[in-house]
Amino acid sequence: MPKILVFSNQSDDFINIVNPLKEIGYIVEYLSDESKIFETISAFVPDIMLLCSYTAIKDIAFALRKIRLQDEGGDIQIILLVNKDAEIDEVFSGADGYVTRPINPNILVATVNAHLRLKNHLDIFSANNSELAKRFYQLKVLYDTNSNLAGTLNKRRLINIMNEGLEQSISYSLCSTLVMDNPDDISLIINSHYPITKRLEQALKLRAMIAYKSMFKNESLPFEINIEKVRTEVNFKQENGKYDLEVMSYGSVFSPISTSDKFFGTVEIMRDTELSNEDITCFQTVVSQVALPLESAILYEEIQDKNVKLEKLEKLKSEFVSIVSHELRTPLTAIKNSIDIMLSGKSGELTDGMKNFLSMGDRNVVRLSGIINDLLDLSKIEAGKMQYRFEEINLVNPINFVISTLKSTAEAKNITFGAKINIDEARVYADMQKVEQILTNLTSNAIKFTGKDGSVSITLDKIQAKNLDISKFYEYNKEPLAENYFLVQVQDTGIGIAKENMTKVFDKFQQIESSLSRKVGGTGLGLPIAKEFINAHKGFVWAESEESKGSVFSFVLPEYSTKVKGFNTDEKNVNMLVGNDDFGEENE
Ligand code: ADP
Repeated sequence: MPKILVFSNQSDDFINIVNPLKEIGYIVEYLSDESKIFETISAFVPDIMLLCSYTAIKDIAFALRKIRLQDEGGDIQIILLVNKDAEIDEVFSGADGYVTRPINPNILVATVNAHLRLKNHLDIFSANNSELAKRFYQLKVLYDTNSNLAGTLNKRRLINIMNEGLEQSISYSLCSTLVMDNPDDISLIINSHYPITKRLEQALKLRAMIAYKSMFKNESLPFEINIEKVRTEVNFKQENGKYDLEVMSYGSVFSPISTSDKFFGTVEIMRDTELSNEDITCFQTVVSQVALPLESAILYEEIQDKNVKLEKLEKLKSEFVSIVSHELRTPLTAIKNSIDIMLSGKSGELTDGMKNFLSMGDRNVVRLSGIINDLLDLSKIEAGKMQYRFEEINLVNPINFVISTLKSTAEAKNITFGAKINIDEARVYADMQKVEQILTNLTSNAIKFTGKDGSVSITLDKIQAKNLDISKFYEYNKEPLAENYFLVQVQDTGIGIAKENMTKVFDKFQQIESSLSRKVGGTGLGLPIAKEFINAHKGFVWAESEESKGSVFSFVLPEYSTKVKGFNTDEKNVNMLVGNDDFGEENE
């Protein structure tokens, strides 16, 4: 029933106001003592207050403000009883409406009813508003939780973020999370408002186990759990209280933490007040948010473990290759020396047959040395121990050197072979021996993969950086740093390389399967070594090819006079050593 407080010091108001309101069943309190007005409001809690403007309260505006303040929500509707319309100014000092004297009971009842309806609507509105504010807050927590979860790949931190999100959005009394990493590492994390008794801890452990098992009724469990081995960790917020078994009867909600095919654990929250449907939805949303990042975190951990193992293996392999190739090189040098002495005739006359066999042996020793040297080079590169002796050189010289050393090999296949040098001089800051090796590797491949009567040529040009097509570079994410470059291209009319294999050729141990490559042999190390050497010279390499038409392997090195960032070309005639060679003597 609506409650009306009438405050008036005019005696006939009791009859004119109180009676008609009582007659329609409202609970009415009549007050004439001004000093009791505020305590009556507190005790009676009226819906409507009728306030006579003739009261001894001098400043009605002040009184109304005070009443409003006391009535924190501003819920009481205040109706002034005024003598004539002229007094209605006072309505604006804080009242919600007015009734003019002489009081007409019908108008009075109609006004009171209208304000009761208004109050009703206002009550509903403010209740909705606070519910809306609560949902808005939950949404904000969900959003924050989601972005926090995205920021880490640490499993424990992810569980903590989930618990914080649940705490903030649902303000649980206690949250118990069973975290299962593997059968030997299972823990129950209890986040509680107050410290908990030992028996509650035990009971929560048991409850989590039962809930876990009940989830997989007829299926086999992802983890068999020995309850004795489950570690518990209790965190609480406030010292001044204690939870015991009563928590078990609180409102609660439970959920597995899982994706469609992976299971990470379970979580349950308990609260001393009932959980609404919205709270439960919010709980499920927060919990489901954590499963995917947990999966990523676990994968990340596995990848990291594997990476560490791989790095160790890679190091062992590099060391092994380096030691074995070193050990092989020494006896090979001795064999080569002995063959050379025999072939020179110093150790006695040889028959043609003997010479033939010895020459074959000699060629194979040279080939074997080449392979061992490549392996040694690669292990040095991988260990970051390759040594470079940089100096100012003219690129024309190593090109001529390679032409003269490989001329006979090309001639043996009747391959047209030569260099087209379009400039007089090509000054670069380079290690001569490495440049010769780059050119030898590219050119011997060109000869190797070109059939009889084909052609192989080396061209040299100068090119401005802005005219380079960086999209062709093997390492296309790098930008040229110098202004001018020298471009060396080794072109052949050989078997070519299929499009799908183009990216593989610079990878170590990669050989493109073909009858010719099987026949001619090789290690798949020539191009990766050339690529590394070119990189060390701040150059770029790339390849273009068309199957059965031929290939062009190109590389550029920065012009000597051009300043190259991170590569000091100003120091003339310096033997710059890059790397720290502890692989022993280079030329045994
Ligand atoms: P290797 O020549 O010892 O096998 P490389 O690293 O020098 O190793 O070359 C890798 C592979 O790239 C070769 O096995 C071959 O399949 C392919 N290749 C390299 N150069 C050419 C070329 N000029 N023409 C056709 N294929 C080539």
